[in-house]
Amino acid sequence: MQGWKLFRIFAAELLSTTSRMKKNLDTICIHGGWKPAKGEPQQMPICQSTTFKYETSEQMARLFDLKDNGYFYTRLANPTNDAVAKKIAALEGGVGAVLTSSGQAANFYAVFNICEAGDHFITSNTIYGGTFNLFAVTMKKLGIECTFVDPDWDDERIEKEFRPNTKCFFGETISNPGGNVFDIERFARMAHKHQIPLIVDNTFATPINCRPFEWGADIVTHSTTKYMDGHATQVGGAVVDSGNFDWDAYGEKFPGLTTPDESYHGLTYTKQFGKLAYTTKLVSQLMRDLGSIPAPQNSFLLNLGLETLHLRMARHCENAQKVAEWLEKNPRVSWVNYAGLPSNKYYKLAQKYMPNGTCGVIAFGLKGTRQDAIRFMDNLDFISIVTHVADARTCVLHPASHTHRQMSDEQLLEAGVAPDLIRLSVGIEAVDDIIADLQQAMDKM
Ligand SMILES: *Cc1c(COP(=O)(O)O)cnc(C)c1O
Repeated sequence: MQGWKLFRIFAAELLSTTSRMKKNLDTICIHGGWKPAKGEPQQMPICQSTTFKYETSEQMARLFDLKDNGYFYTRLANPTNDAVAKKIAALEGGVGAVLTSSGQAANFYAVFNICEAGDHFITSNTIYGGTFNLFAVTMKKLGIECTFVDPDWDDERIEKEFRPNTKCFFGETISNPGGNVFDIERFARMAHKHQIPLIVDNTFATPINCRPFEWGADIVTHSTTKYMDGHATQVGGAVVDSGNFDWDAYGEKFPGLTTPDESYHGLTYTKQFGKLAYTTKLVSQLMRDLGSIPAPQNSFLLNLGLETLHLRMARHCENAQKVAEWLEKNPRVSWVNYAGLPSNKYYKLAQKYMPNGTCGVIAFGLKGTRQDAIRFMDNLDFISIVTHVADARTCVLHPASHTHRQMSDEQLLEAGVAPDLIRLSVGIEAVDDIIADLQQAMDKM
């Protein structure tokens, strides 16, 4: 299959292929990553094979030395996974991307690729509960310390948290579940002033609504489990590199990238791979040693989702806007947080970064007790109670009793999650039916 030659993770051609794609995002959703040659399958094939065959021992040795491009073992690279990674890189406008087995793995790898024991990083405190645990508890056990800052603090207060061993700054474009909008340009400026990259988890906005690299972010991560898949079929993640951060300029801060890697015959990633240094290290070191690759079958399912991402995001935003406006006028509702509402604290930031809409996720509170919120959710008809979010089907969750139950009330409030917060993920059904379901559930309370 000649077409497979196009998909080699270490190839410089990755750079030229993505930059050649100056197409609209809608077209990249359909055509990015896989370009069949004559007689090849129109749909990207699932390459469900652990390994790849060579004719001589010498050919295989050159692959292991990273001297030749080619597939040998799926933990390091697989044609299906690479094709989907390329599509996501193109959507974000990055030079390279790596798929992971979950969003959690993506965020871990994105930070761990440049932080080691003794290092420190800073994150917005309004991040997803799973990421909060990863950063506050698990990474601490690895000797990596994380400071949580409130993005609403002024620059001076936040800048006090930077230390000589601080290696990156992290935030979510739209926070899960609070719906806070991250001022990417402001935090990119601050990170760069302190000679470190900004990592942005772009899961909720997706590149259809926001491309963080255009605002100065250096690395983007995704839980592809959410809108990118959109049909609740697979758990996955992605790390995308803009190729813009100059690791060599602050070489002593990032020795993993700028000094020889003993585990790879003394190769130096920035020297050998230039703009692909971060991505190559992530694959050839972290993936090699820790695993966490997606099954090619899952990447295929993810790709089917990506083919309609541009259509679904527009509908999610249109529906969510109408539902948010309806909730805001509803006498049973005590508050609504949706950045598309002009009354919202983040409206101006949302207009700046996401003029075409933010996402389908709304946070709101009902008047009454915690028990009332639970009764409301139990009364719903087709709107389902699930842990999942950002899906074609409308769904709800009460973070204080579900996803965030390990957090104290104080930590909840710090993370921007009110104890009465209901997370409503508006799907792409008929909006009148969604509103009717919410109405009847409230009537029965
Ligand atoms: C769900 C989510 C994650 C974790 O992703 P998984 O695919 O569930 O591992 C990380 N960040 C955000 C913003 C999320 O919504």
